[in-house]
Amino acid sequence: MSELQLRCELVRLARSLHERGYSAGSSGNISVRLADGVLMTPTNASLGALQPDRLSKLDAAWQLVSGDPPSKEIFLHRAFYESRPATGAIVHLHSTYGTALSCLADTDPNDCVPALTPYIVMRLGTVRLIPYVRPGDPGAGDFIRELRGNAHAVLLSNHGSVVAGKDLMSAGGAAEELEQAAKLLLTLRGLPVRLLSADQVSELNRIFAS
Ligand SMILES: [Zn+2]
Repeated sequence: MSELQLRCELVRLARSLHERGYSAGSSGNISVRLADGVLMTPTNASLGALQPDRLSKLDAAWQLVSGDPPSKEIFLHRAFYESRPATGAIVHLHSTYGTALSCLADTDPNDCVPALTPYIVMRLGTVRLIPYVRPGDPGAGDFIRELRGNAHAVLLSNHGSVVAGKDLMSAGGAAEELEQAAKLLLTLRGLPVRLLSADQVSELNRIFAS
């Protein structure tokens, strides 16, 4: 896919997420890997009103080469690309249910989303909770690097979600899956829940592992 096509696809995905309520105001940011760097949503930009030619283009050393200045949450993206080489795109959202789950005191930091459905297992894997840091603090990247590439979906404590995928569509789809999973968890809160068994999870990992 050409850089122009990727610019347009990123803008389309961002608008779709915004229009469906996943990113209020100027929250959330998205990036996609290019042959010679990364494209990222600019700082303080609404995901609903991006322009393809104003996206931040960063070179392989993460320096801005064209477009508006990048999101101040660039550290999250850089840490994922550098610790998971297969990453082609990243979606970060402050969506309601994912953020709610990131605020709950009893969310398991090593497994934020238990195996409620097969799609949680197949599309999210084990979701980890990153300790709180203020937005824009490079420390968030350090926490992601500490996962050593062993998670592609995380919650940032009291902040939101970050999901890496092989391309924009897969990162966007998994980000929506995480929001849906958090909504399910909160809907079921206080009710007796039947999770998938360890054998059922193993079967999914065996058959659908990519
Ligand atoms: Zn954020």
